[in-house]
Amino acid sequence: MNKRIIILAVFTQLFVHSLLYGQAGTVLPLEEQLQDQGLVDIQSLAPDILVELKYSTTDNFLAADTYGELEHCYLQPEAAAMLKEAQAILKQSHPGLTLLVYDGARPRSIQRKMWTLVVGTPSEDYVANPKGGSVHNYGSAVDLTLADAQGVPLDMGTPFDYFGELAQPRHEDRFLKENKLTQQQVDNRHLLREVMTQAGFLAISIEWWHFNAVPVKVARTQYKIIE
Ligand SMILES: [Zn+2]
Repeated sequence: MNKRIIILAVFTQLFVHSLLYGQAGTVLPLEEQLQDQGLVDIQSLAPDILVELKYSTTDNFLAADTYGELEHCYLQPEAAAMLKEAQAILKQSHPGLTLLVYDGARPRSIQRKMWTLVVGTPSEDYVANPKGGSVHNYGSAVDLTLADAQGVPLDMGTPFDYFGELAQPRHEDRFLKENKLTQQQVDNRHLLREVMTQAGFLAISIEWWHFNAVPVKVARTQYKIIE
């Protein structure tokens, strides 16, 4: 699709969304803040994408719900449009599958909460210092997997946020040879990477679930940290 049309569609959706939520008065203060900073609720663009914000549950490596009432996934408009595109690409080749999003924009206020929980613990290496921020803090990164028609995540060989080499795409070939990952698990990861990169996202070598909409340097110059 033409880039201008995508951007126009995003802003139209954003306008409609703000009208709906503004009038209903049900939007959370944090969400309002995210919308004011120009971010888009991805389900307002692509309602068929599943969202389960892991940091809004206790099912994460912090074992803490740092997102509180925030249940919707927000991204920069360009990243949100790319994610919609990834879902469309997936649906074309695999109509029974869907994207299942675990994390998107992460406000710095939440990054600070996470940092407080891990500082001085072995998990410290896995949380970005809120000072510099991560691409999630710029609203330009997404963590996700693939799910079947019942919403059950496909087997990727490790859970989300598994901090070990088995989760690192750079070692997949070796783990496949050593029978530590199955062909099906590697194929599932390949499919996720294929649809995401076709939509313009950049995969990283150390986490199968993480994708950047733009390189880190570009995020830092193009966007402000989401507060
Ligand atoms: Zn991530």
